[in-house]
Amino acid sequence: MTNSKGYAVKHAKDNFSLWNFERREVGDNDIQIDILYCGICHSDIHQVRSEWFPGIYPMVPGHEIVGRITKVGQQVTAFKVGEYAGVGCMVDSCRTCDNCNRGYEQFCKTGAVYTYNALERDGKTPTYGGYANNIIVDQKFALHVSDKLPLAGVAPLLCAGITTYSPIKKWKISKGHKVAVLGLGGLGHMAVKFAVAFGAEVTVLSTSASKEIDAKNLGAHNFCNTKDKEQVKKYNAYFDFIIDTVSAAHDYDMYLKMLATNGVQILVGIPETPIQLNAFSLLSNGRTLTASSIGGIAETQEMLDFCAAHNIVSDIEIINANYIDEAYERVIKSDVKYRFVIDCKTI
Ligand code: NAP
Ligand code: ZN
Ligand code: ZN
Repeated sequence: MTNSKGYAVKHAKDNFSLWNFERREVGDNDIQIDILYCGICHSDIHQVRSEWFPGIYPMVPGHEIVGRITKVGQQVTAFKVGEYAGVGCMVDSCRTCDNCNRGYEQFCKTGAVYTYNALERDGKTPTYGGYANNIIVDQKFALHVSDKLPLAGVAPLLCAGITTYSPIKKWKISKGHKVAVLGLGGLGHMAVKFAVAFGAEVTVLSTSASKEIDAKNLGAHNFCNTKDKEQVKKYNAYFDFIIDTVSAAHDYDMYLKMLATNGVQILVGIPETPIQLNAFSLLSNGRTLTASSIGGIAETQEMLDFCAAHNIVSDIEIINANYIDEAYERVIKSDVKYRFVIDCKTI
């Protein structure tokens, strides 16, 4: 076995503390990564607190992982010791079903194995994530990370990046489209960067008036404070797409009405409670409400390569591991610019 240490919670109401645990030995197809940075995603908070479903404890969260490879198995051809590598939300899948074959590992028919709060394919070994000093992963689920970008800012690309890049590609969002990004947090600020990079006119819809300057600095063309009904009215039936990154229950009818004819609202945020809306909000203007879940491994690599080519990273606040509890409280208050990233050398 391989000795690991990480920050864990023992139950849904626990604070984080240092925990020693074991991971498997490096197998023939595995690589071992010394984790340098790991982002804090709002999904970590939902799962630590069992907001979506009962969690598996002790839980070491973290699925925005970058670090340096320290060991490779005998069959590993894609990676070398000393290179940077990343791990996102998944560490395995069946690799044989139609969805896996088409690059949709996140929709694997037998269920993808998530990086933490999940069981390996043996059905009994828990997975532990990136708030840790190391991780062992099959080469097929590891990503190549450019050494040209600042590494800490790359970490959030592994979830916030792919989760916003994937629907932008799927819906072919590009020049001529009017796109709203709803919620300027970890996912939201990446959605702005990608939608701008693909040529769209981008408007940030935010409950935080104080984020207007940042929104413009990120490349957004317009900013709408959604607490101000007059500002909301200006965008009635205006957008072709809304990328909805909000983590808590909100008024879907109000936002759907901001979609133009045949407009599409894409949910990536996953509130704890089921959503409620009036069918008329969809009927009028023939609107579509859809959702998107992370992205496959090949698409995640494509996104990382796109970011390297276009010099795109996440805007981050680097923290020590003993600050995770406070960081969670600040994320919940929408008080982070725009992703916390743990310096894993402090673990
Ligand atoms: P985050 O950094 O906390 O950002 C969420 C943003 O939503 C906040 O910054 C805030 O923006 C806005 N917001 C928060 N509460 C709100 C409310 N009650 N009403 C309206 N707006 C509100 O979170 P994140 O890490 O980006 O994650 C966002 C959501 O996406 C989470 O639910 C997460 O679990 C989910 N997620 C989904 C996937 C996927 O595959 N679909 C992947 C990763 C994460 P303003 O201050 O601008 O209003
Ligand atoms: Zn995430
Ligand atoms: Zn599969």
